[in-house]
Amino acid sequence: MQILFLGPPGAGKGTQCKRLSAKLNLPHLSSGDLLREAVKAGTEAGVKAKQYMNTGALVPDDVLIAMFKEKLQTPECAKGFILDGFPRNLAQAEALDSLLSELKKNLGIVINLAVDENLLTERITGRRICSNKTCNTPFHLKFAAPKQADTCDCCGSSLYQRDDDKETLVAERLKTYHAQTQPLIDYYGKRGILKTVNGDGAQDDIYAELQKAVQVTA
Ligand code: AMP
Repeated sequence: MQILFLGPPGAGKGTQCKRLSAKLNLPHLSSGDLLREAVKAGTEAGVKAKQYMNTGALVPDDVLIAMFKEKLQTPECAKGFILDGFPRNLAQAEALDSLLSELKKNLGIVINLAVDENLLTERITGRRICSNKTCNTPFHLKFAAPKQADTCDCCGSSLYQRDDDKETLVAERLKTYHAQTQPLIDYYGKRGILKTVNGDGAQDDIYAELQKAVQVTA
């Protein structure tokens, strides 16, 4: 099963994808996480990506397309995957279509996680993430606070704030989302595979709605 998540930064895609990925036993492929790993590792793609990520702009399509082309052909993706953050514009969506047709796969469902625009800035700036790469659990200072300050509930590692989650970059990231990613709602809507899930409210309630949309039994 191939699932794709759309939604603005701060909608909670990462949190919900992580849960769904554990439930369905499908890999969660987050473009942002893959790019941050590449930046940290100092790969050629990472060096190129960093300058764009630091301004809230999209990284050039060729970097993302090559990254996902390689990833989708790995054995861990053979029985399906959950895409989060890729594609992010029409050129990437078309490239994904070709990639999937080469692999003789298709998208079963596209989830649009919709959140009230006024809530996004607070959601993004309050986000904190576990620094342990294999854990990577997201928290929120107000909506999903860790039991102990700056410490991951799951593995005890320290939490950090992403550089691009700081207030100065948020407006630019939202602008990029509206201009380039939002049109994909229409792109997949026309194919009849789009389901909108309300991303406002408690994480458990959102997950329950998501499970219904994906038709997963509890
Ligand atoms: P995210 O973690 O999904 O919010 O992504 C963080 C940053 O990575 C974005 O602001 C972009 O600079 C970059 N990025 C993530 N996914 C893509 C993509 N599909 N295309 C281009 N840039 C991306």
